[in-house]
Amino acid sequence: MDFSEYKKSTASVWAGETDLFTQGAVTPPIIKSVTFGYDDLDEWHRVATGNADGYIYSRNTNPTVHVLEEKIRILEGAEAATSFATGMGAISNTLFALLEPGKRVVSLKDTYGGASRLFLDFLPRYQVNVTLCDTTDFDAIETELAKGCDLLYLETPTNPTLKIVDLRRLAAAAKKVGAVTVVDNTFATPINQNPLALGADLVLHSATKFLCGHSDAMGGVLCGRKDLIQKVFQFREINGASLQADPAYLIARGMKTLELRIERQNASALTIAQYLKAHPKVSEVFYPGLESHPGHAIAKAQMSGFGGILSFSLTGGYEQVKQFLPRLQFVHLAASLGSVSTLAGPPRTTSHVELTEEQRSLLGIPESLIRYSVGIENVSDLITDLERALALV
Ligand code: PLP
Repeated sequence: MDFSEYKKSTASVWAGETDLFTQGAVTPPIIKSVTFGYDDLDEWHRVATGNADGYIYSRNTNPTVHVLEEKIRILEGAEAATSFATGMGAISNTLFALLEPGKRVVSLKDTYGGASRLFLDFLPRYQVNVTLCDTTDFDAIETELAKGCDLLYLETPTNPTLKIVDLRRLAAAAKKVGAVTVVDNTFATPINQNPLALGADLVLHSATKFLCGHSDAMGGVLCGRKDLIQKVFQFREINGASLQADPAYLIARGMKTLELRIERQNASALTIAQYLKAHPKVSEVFYPGLESHPGHAIAKAQMSGFGGILSFSLTGGYEQVKQFLPRLQFVHLAASLGSVSTLAGPPRTTSHVELTEEQRSLLGIPESLIRYSVGIENVSDLITDLERALALV
């Protein structure tokens, strides 16, 4: 079915589901079968060699997993999509499938901690040359690209200080030198931002976050140019970081309400950011929807909403954060983000736990910073919750 004339909310519900319904079922089945049988050996051979559509073995492809891949493919406006057991599976398979000894990657200092580990510890072991630039110094990134680059890896908004990276400008600069641009779109979601339309070649997500939306399944997805997806898929089917049917079903189900959740989370996060900005016990608020945010103009130009995550710090430092966070009622103090329930925690114990205080400070992450991933609760209740806890510290 061609979804190009339909809106994202319609595609979220219907994409990928059209072939699987039997006996009037209105949801796709969870097909747990590891393998798929054939009576006709010629047909089996055609499918196994990629010359006909069909399924052979669930490490490679699976009908329930395909439903999810189709949803993300349509929402990101991509030629092709594939999936992984986790978001890190998407990132590591993409990098290891597309790079080899002697190749060069340019990326940002502020990428998600797991991606940073690949750049700093693992890729150099395979003689891949990695240069990490200051995240918003676009001139410096362009200078590095002009020296020669095979893969530009970007993330925007970034974790946890919500920096904004100019995707149009950097993807164009990468194209000039023949580099493939990969964007981690986890924070924005395909509802708020479509990197492929801004010039990127590949876009990936930790599907564990907003796509799933309920903190009950892990997964990763990658979509974009067909030739590149094929290369990454071939690597993933051999290294085995495949998504299973059960989490794929949960993520695909979560995606049916993606636009509803994201619209709510966009609006609530902006209201909360504005509230916190005016609060005397809050020293700093990071949210790209605030006009005072240094990346606001770029965010406005490349995003249709500013997302459900903000971060803020308290005037009283980390000791005050320790008193404040446990006093919140409608927040899970936990890692992760993008769920229906609000999740919060300091980068010091979550995303940037492996860094020293000095390294965090170099990245502009105050010790008293709190990352707050807004859920779908009523925003007035969340503000009352914040108000009460702030009054007590
Ligand atoms: N990308 C971003 C921006 C993330 O925040 C995360 C996890 O927090 C990942 C990728 C990795 O995803 P996963 O935990 O599903 O492996």
